[in-house]
Amino acid sequence: MAGYTDFLLDRYFNLPQGRYVNVIVLRETKSETIFRTEGSGEPLNREFVHAGLNNGEVIPRVVISKRKQTAVERRTGRELLRGFGLLQKHDDGAECMLNTNTPCERCIDCWFYGFAAGGSGAQKSRVITEDAFSLLPASSIVDTKTFNALFDNSTMRNPVTGEPSTSLGESEYVKPEAHFLDMEVLKDVTADELVYACGNILRSSRYGAISSRIGRVQNTILAIVFSRAEICSSLELTQASYDRLTEKEHPLRTDDVAKVVTGENGALAHLLPQTIGPYQMMAGQPLATFLAEIHETYKEPEAFLRRLDASYPAPAKTKKGR
Ligand SMILES: [Zn+2]
Repeated sequence: MAGYTDFLLDRYFNLPQGRYVNVIVLRETKSETIFRTEGSGEPLNREFVHAGLNNGEVIPRVVISKRKQTAVERRTGRELLRGFGLLQKHDDGAECMLNTNTPCERCIDCWFYGFAAGGSGAQKSRVITEDAFSLLPASSIVDTKTFNALFDNSTMRNPVTGEPSTSLGESEYVKPEAHFLDMEVLKDVTADELVYACGNILRSSRYGAISSRIGRVQNTILAIVFSRAEICSSLELTQASYDRLTEKEHPLRTDDVAKVVTGENGALAHLLPQTIGPYQMMAGQPLATFLAEIHETYKEPEAFLRRLDASYPAPAKTKKGR
């Protein structure tokens, strides 16, 4: 991380410092993917936006909501923390829980992704995500299929009799090999926190409906941009990349997509000079080295996670059961 230290914190600090790490993520569907409960009849989220920054055509793009993305990545991280006993317990033995009133307020997940507590306060999430947009129009990456309709418990089996569902519903799905561009902005993080966030991004692959196994997504980190102010948005990045595609038919080749984003005349090269203040992009060999380090760290992550866990201040309010 030498060379990027101006944009990272030495250790956790509880007031904003205005240091941004923008992780440029390419999310590619590897199977038919449903981002909604299948059979619910709900359409996929889509937004009408301009096709490119230069191309003024208006097209519908499929949107993966930011909530969906962080929820999946948090869970990926928490599974690991749980395995090492790093999700803290309350006096009554209840474990740190997402989306309840019982965050432990002292695990890596609470410190990093934030929590809103019923009692003693809140920690702001330092992960600022945006909705991710499909590179190509919805019309070329979405199809419809028929499903057995779901019961109340979101399964295809009657919760009382165990009989399979016989009524049919329709669901839209995203075809395999569809590309979404996304920026995950980490604010005021340490080098270890950056590794933790990237580890969660790279290890997450199921963004689809929870009730099924449908929906495999492969995340690739295309570049990391360190800055002192926010850079372009996910949508601008998507549009600038779309402008640069020579071929606009589904399925696109992932290499070609990567090139229009990070290449010499790519979207980032076009958009980054508009950034106010200093910035530095990590791509190519330095990025490959960094990603290889993450790979190595996660072969045996315990020591890393314990170091990260120990880097946070002791909470004012002591909790038993640690
Ligand atoms: Zn916690």
